[in-house]
Amino acid sequence: MIYPWQNDLWQHMTAARGRLPHALLLQGRAGIGKLDFAEALAAALLCERPAADGHACGQCDSCNWNAQGNHPDLRVLTPEDGGQGGDEEDAEAKPGKKSQVISIAQVRELAEFLGLSSHRANVRVVLLHPAEALNAASANALLKMLEEPPSGVLFILVTHQPQRLLPTIRSRCNKVDMPFPERAQAESWLAAQGVADAAERLTYVGGAPLLALRMEEGEQKRLGDLHKELGRGARMDPFFVASLCAKEGILATLEALQKWTHDLAAARLAGEVRYHAQQAPSLQALANGIDLSRLLDFQRVLHEARRTAQHPLNAELQVESLLIQYTQLFPTVRTP
Ligand SMILES: [Zn+2]
Repeated sequence: MIYPWQNDLWQHMTAARGRLPHALLLQGRAGIGKLDFAEALAAALLCERPAADGHACGQCDSCNWNAQGNHPDLRVLTPEDGGQGGDEEDAEAKPGKKSQVISIAQVRELAEFLGLSSHRANVRVVLLHPAEALNAASANALLKMLEEPPSGVLFILVTHQPQRLLPTIRSRCNKVDMPFPERAQAESWLAAQGVADAAERLTYVGGAPLLALRMEEGEQKRLGDLHKELGRGARMDPFFVASLCAKEGILATLEALQKWTHDLAAARLAGEVRYHAQQAPSLQALANGIDLSRLLDFQRVLHEARRTAQHPLNAELQVESLLIQYTQLFPTVRTP
C-alpha cells in the first residue's frame, strides 16, 4: 500500500521497472510510510501481471506467495527475535528479547539465496529494514554483495537514520528521499482514516501522519492527563505523575517531557509553542515564572537520559528523579 503523498514517486519508479539500479536506499523521517512503499514496490516488481497504475495485481501466484509471506524470490531482513544462539559476533542479541540488530547470520543466509537462480521471473528482491539495524559485521557482509550484485537482484534498504549506515553502504545505493506530506494532505488523510483530532495529533508528533495514526486513544488520554499535571508546575506531585508515566514506558515519557520543556523554553523566549497548541496559555503562565538557566540545564539532563534510555537501570526511579527536578524549575507557591 502506498500513500497519497507518494503517488508521484510511485509513478516515477514503477515506470522505470526493469531499469532500476541494483540497490535503493529509501530514506526519510519516521512515520511517513517508507516501509509500506518498499513492500508495495517489491510486490509490484515480482507480480506477473502488474496493473496499469504499476501496482501488483493481487491475484497471480507471485502475489499469493507474497500475501502468505513465503515468496521464493523475495527475502526480507529485519531484526529477528533473539534466542537463535551460536552467533557470537552478534553479542547484542539476547535470548527472548527482540533484537535490535540484523545479524551477520541473517546476511550470510542471503548469499545462498543470491546464488540460486530466480524461481520464476528474472527478478529477485531483498528488502532490508531498518537498515540502521545492521551492525559492523553484518554491514560488511552486505557490502560485499552490493559490490558484486548478481544480475536481476534488487536490494531495497529502508532507513530513517541514514547517518548511522556505513558510508560505503550508502555510496553503493541509489538514495531516494521519501516524500514528507504537506500538512493539509496529512490532515485530510488522517481524517479519512477516522481520526477525529487529526490536527492536534499531527502537531504533537511533528507532522508524520503514521505516527499520528498509531497514537492510541488511551495513549492520548494519558498524555492529556500528563500535560495537565505538568501544567501545575511546582505544585505537581512527582510520585503520582511517575505512576501515570509507568504505563507509557521511559522512552515515551522522556519524549513527552522533552516536548513539554521545549515548549516552555519557546514560550519563555519567543512567546510561542510548537507541540502543545491547546495548552499554550498554561505553558505561557508557567514559562513566565521559570528559572531559565535551570530549564536549559534540565533539557540537557533529559537529552542525556534519552540517549542512554535503551538500557535504563531503573526506569521508574529515573522518571521520579526527573519529575522532582521538573517541579524545582518553578518558584514554590504556598498553598493556604
Ligand atoms: Zn500479481
